[in-house]
Amino acid sequence: MASSRLAVKIGMSWNWSDVRREFEIVIPAHGREVDVIRVPPNKARMLGRVRKGPLKILDKRVKRALKDWMYLPMRASWEICHLDPRKGGAGVFPTAEQVEILTVSHAPRLLSSREPWVRALVDSAITKTVRTRTRREPEERDIAEYLSGSMRAEFGRYRFDVASLWSDVRMASSRLAVKIGMSWNWSDVRREFDIVIPAHGREVVVIRVPPNKARMLGKLLRDAVRHRYLARLLAKPDQGKVFECISASPFSNHFLRTGANTRFCDWRFVHRARLGVVPLNAATRWGPRDDLRCRRCGWQSETLPHVLDHCKVHSSAWRGRHDAILHRLAGEVPRASVEIRVDRTPPMIDSALRPDLVVVDEGRRKIVIVDVTVPFENRKNALDVASLAAQRDNVGYRVNGIPITVLAYADDVALVSRKPDGMMKLLDLADRIAAWSGLKFNPRKCATLHVAGGRGAVGKSTGGLSNNKDRKE
Ligand SMILES: [Zn+2]
Repeated sequence: MASSRLAVKIGMSWNWSDVRREFEIVIPAHGREVDVIRVPPNKARMLGRVRKGPLKILDKRVKRALKDWMYLPMRASWEICHLDPRKGGAGVFPTAEQVEILTVSHAPRLLSSREPWVRALVDSAITKTVRTRTRREPEERDIAEYLSGSMRAEFGRYRFDVASLWSDVRMASSRLAVKIGMSWNWSDVRREFDIVIPAHGREVVVIRVPPNKARMLGKLLRDAVRHRYLARLLAKPDQGKVFECISASPFSNHFLRTGANTRFCDWRFVHRARLGVVPLNAATRWGPRDDLRCRRCGWQSETLPHVLDHCKVHSSAWRGRHDAILHRLAGEVPRASVEIRVDRTPPMIDSALRPDLVVVDEGRRKIVIVDVTVPFENRKNALDVASLAAQRDNVGYRVNGIPITVLAYADDVALVSRKPDGMMKLLDLADRIAAWSGLKFNPRKCATLHVAGGRGAVGKSTGGLSNNKDRKE
């Protein structure tokens, strides 16, 4: 099938040579001195040979083109080109690494062939290859070690390999071992090889892929390589900050594939902002750094958080951004049998507070209160802090189905906990909120209340913020 398709495309054919008593593959030789190239079986490695040098040049050009497309400067992290679009990247996998993955994932297919004669042929070929390296009769365990690219003892002592499919697999596996920590393993119980890949972010530590599941292998290896790119990006102190937040949910990156709700000016800004490479006075890397002040309001350092969230000149834009999100949310709530109140007091209570969005479901006696807050995505912690700051008082209802531990509005915060260690965690969080938002606690106005369960005793206890490590002066 494959030969007949290539015969149509490039005019190749199989031929039997009576003189040399062997098969050969005939390929038209364009632009060379001969008309056709005849490839005998023992030169088969030249046939499908993929040279990685040109691929690396190609990858480099693709990276440059992708950065142009995303309006990123040269110093932007290249990892963004290879990340999955659901994690905020361009989703183009590097071809040089694809070749390594294809080489490795081809091996288990041969090892698990259903044809006994293919299995026998593969076994003898691989045993011969490993024997040449170790100069002794190999066991299955040695074969797994050879394929993993081990340089231990005799595997490193004799640096001589017969070039074959299996030496290619060894080379590709050892490169992937350095990058993502994969290895080959022989299972004595199941009497078969398996490939062990670290499982990032799953319940298990490693994934074991037996040969008959080889079809999954390519995807798992690609995921592991992509995970490594993401980890490298997140480890960067400046360019990884926002990506820690936006890679957590595919909803943050919905526009990458479809371009929905995105104007060209947004596109030109968003990738630079996400990587923190907008050319601002306090965020430039090169050139003179004498004047870091905000060019609009004169604040001491013009950084992205300042421009987006703190610069008073842009304060009407903050409100516009907040209201746009609020009205979009309100528009998405299914309207059947619920009442939606935007920026109005909740029903049936005597309060002047006006949450952003209140959805009242009288039938199920349920109220959902939503308060929109737009934090700067400064590491994942910023989102936790913001969601805590956004929680409001429940009014005798169950709010969003979760028990409420924090009652907060404007400049008053109440923390509720059943256990002392829970209270410590809450105090710690409150401390971080205060530090993040620039607020200070006034110890004279702080009070604690201790409710003893069962006995109905309510008393004022000592301790809490005023003489705690969380005190803010
Ligand atoms: Zn400013």
